[in-house]
Amino acid sequence: MADVTVDKFAASVGISVTRLQEQLLDAGIAQKQPTDSLSEAEKTQLLSHLRKMHGKNEVAPEPEKITLRRKTLSEIKLPSERRTTRLRGTKTATPSKTVSIEVRKKRTYVKRKATVDNELPLVDEREKELSRVRAEEAKQRIAQEEAERQAKEKRLEEERIASEKAEEERLEAERKAAELAEQERLQAERKAAEKAEQERLKEELSSSKSKTDSSQADVTQKKETPPNHRKSLKSKERRELQKAEREELHVSRDKSGRRRKKSSPAKVLSGSNLKHGFEKPTAPVIKDVEIPENITVSELSARMSVKAGEVIKVMMSLGTIVTINQILDQETATLVVEELGHKPKPVSDDALEKSLKIDDTSDSDAVIRAPIVTIMGHVDHGKTSLLDRIRESHVADGEAGGITQHIGAYMVSTGGGAITFLDTPGHAAFTSMRARGASVTDIVVLVVAADDGVMPQTEEAIKHAKAAGVPLIVAVNKIDKEEAQPDKVKQELANREVIPEDWGGDTQFTHVSAKTGEGIEKLLEAILLQAEVLEVRASMEGKARGVVIESRLDKGRGPVATVLIQSGKLCRGDILVAGSEFGRVRAMSDSTGKNLTDAGPSEPVEIVGLSGTPRAGEESAVVADEKRAREISSYRLNKDRETRLSRRQSFQMENMFAKMEDGEKASFRVLLKADVQGSCEAIADALQQIDNSEVKVEVVNEGVGAITESDVNLAFASDAIILAFNVRAESSAKKMLEDEGLELRYYSVIYELIDDVKTAASGLMAPEVRENIIGIAEVRDVFRSSKLGSIAGCIVSEGTVKKSNPIRVLRDSVVIYEGELESLRRFKDDVTSVQSGTECGIGVKNYNDVKPGDQIEVYERIEVARSV
Ligand code: GDP
Repeated sequence: MADVTVDKFAASVGISVTRLQEQLLDAGIAQKQPTDSLSEAEKTQLLSHLRKMHGKNEVAPEPEKITLRRKTLSEIKLPSERRTTRLRGTKTATPSKTVSIEVRKKRTYVKRKATVDNELPLVDEREKELSRVRAEEAKQRIAQEEAERQAKEKRLEEERIASEKAEEERLEAERKAAELAEQERLQAERKAAEKAEQERLKEELSSSKSKTDSSQADVTQKKETPPNHRKSLKSKERRELQKAEREELHVSRDKSGRRRKKSSPAKVLSGSNLKHGFEKPTAPVIKDVEIPENITVSELSARMSVKAGEVIKVMMSLGTIVTINQILDQETATLVVEELGHKPKPVSDDALEKSLKIDDTSDSDAVIRAPIVTIMGHVDHGKTSLLDRIRESHVADGEAGGITQHIGAYMVSTGGGAITFLDTPGHAAFTSMRARGASVTDIVVLVVAADDGVMPQTEEAIKHAKAAGVPLIVAVNKIDKEEAQPDKVKQELANREVIPEDWGGDTQFTHVSAKTGEGIEKLLEAILLQAEVLEVRASMEGKARGVVIESRLDKGRGPVATVLIQSGKLCRGDILVAGSEFGRVRAMSDSTGKNLTDAGPSEPVEIVGLSGTPRAGEESAVVADEKRAREISSYRLNKDRETRLSRRQSFQMENMFAKMEDGEKASFRVLLKADVQGSCEAIADALQQIDNSEVKVEVVNEGVGAITESDVNLAFASDAIILAFNVRAESSAKKMLEDEGLELRYYSVIYELIDDVKTAASGLMAPEVRENIIGIAEVRDVFRSSKLGSIAGCIVSEGTVKKSNPIRVLRDSVVIYEGELESLRRFKDDVTSVQSGTECGIGVKNYNDVKPGDQIEVYERIEVARSV
């Protein structure tokens, strides 16, 4: 920029020249005359001085914004033309005029930094705004996600609760059903006892006297009867009422034909009905309803053609809440049926099972069927090889593409006839079937390796066959071997009363080689000959009956079962009951995988369509319809439960030995829980060493800590007795033990435990001394007394706490101290015993470490009479 004079500068900044001169002097600039020019540097110096004066920075800051204004004046000459030009300030309409033009320019330079500085807050603002919005959005998103997550959790929680509830309900239903079964059993037992008693009385007393007695017996019975029975008595009155009502008036009650108010007197009811004058009196539809000994609520309602809810309502009015799947006993069901205005027709369950067997008795059309053979023998003597060899050479597997299936049994056809082999070798299958009462096998083929002779399992097989009354055929196997000594085998067997025919006995002996196939035909002939002697027959027609050989759950096809038909004809589409499972036979095939539309006696068939997997050895039969199938199924389920309940009794330690089968080395199963790992191991080792000639002790599980529900379950499932060494059962487990009737024994001395098991396992006698827990006190608080030491403030939760008895202190169900009581007080008084539900103060002798939450258990040692 060009230099300006002082006066011009003064004019441009708008101050007087003298003032400027003074300021210049102040700023340290040499005296200037108004005409002197001011350099750029001087101007800056002046400016910085002035700023300083105003308290600003010494250094003149660079201007942030400079606005330049320029004004230019010019003149233009317009041509002599008549025109109007609008220009700033001038309007010419005359020719060749001079126009003066003033152009003003204004330019603002803004320092970049300033802009940035100025803009920064803006950008900041925008950024802030943006981030705020983003944060807001994120917040919302998080909140939404959180809400979703919570909703999901809530849903899952609800589902969990629902499933838990369902599970609880199921368990409750099962429990109730078990209770019902138990009640029924007890009732049956009582009835039987009463009947026996009455008969005895009848015999003893004159007829008139016996009458009195029985009426007295009636009275006592009334007193003692459980709610169920009382209901039936009440029901009689109701029945009377109902009958009276029905006779009085034949009015349809409502759509379902049921009464409106069960307990209202007939009069009131008829009165209210009479009000509906327009209702045309009609006879209600009264159905004959067959009631088996046990029936589910849903089945019962189906039989009356009413909704299950109706039955549930009636049951509620009787004071019992039932679920749809609950099983009702005959009496209760009868009551419900009457309540709903129908006619109950009780049928005995035996009749139900018998009805399945009716075909059996009609032997008139029975024809010879294929014999059913089981192969038994010692391990490695060649059972499997023999079965495979027979199968390979005689099953026409070409028919189904060469794929043979192991379905548990197969049928071969020989020149002399067909033979069915059960191809689950070994004794377990045979015995498990026999245990279920199924006698499937006609002939046992006893395989004995010629190079090995009679071995323990050979002897076992002989015993099994004899016990089942099934004839034996001996197959002396591995005859191809050089070291084979068939005559030695013959001798050994003869010594065990398996006498060969050529020695005057009745057992056929054949020499075979599963390896070379030698003698196989002879063996098959021998089987057919034996079958001929046995004359195995069955009816080819009629509804099929059979036995389940095995079953499994197939991923694609669902439950699959192999059924060996014993009589009749099984057709595809039949309704089959197998054990407690049932269903329509959707598909049926033989061991070669060939699809069948029907099958006859001695044919093993694999069937698809059952509701579940029945157990091997369970009976199966074709029934008329699904209704009947369901009835039989529920009956069998119930029977099963009863058996389980009665099993409880035999679960006691003393009874364990009785359960062991003849000739079999039984195992005595125990489940062991101890306070520490060391004692647990020591006891388990000692127990496992108990192995006498008849019994072997098997520890099904061992562990440390309190006895839990799962321990009880395991013990129940594996027929084991629970032995607790210095530990106790959790209360839920305790309840379960009571419910299941299982035995649990507490010990605190190792040798006592071992001795007990030893004596029980040898079946000689019951243990002599037994510990009984007679009372438990829960420690609530502990007080220190200088005179008495620690006093535990307790509440007796179970039984009675007696001062004279020995005690144990338990912490978390584990024994931590054994000893006796120093003091037992109720308020300020010394007492000898404290009953359950009462508070007391307990001082344990020589022990001051009792803590709140501990339990003090009082026990007694009692002598148990030895029983042989
Ligand atoms: P399993 O335990 O009774 O079912 O016996 P296996 O059928 O598994 O046979 C046990 C062993 O004996 C296998 O190695 C077979 O190969 C062999 N084996 C079976 N039968 C014969 C036979 O007739 N001769 C010979 N030499 N070996 C046989």
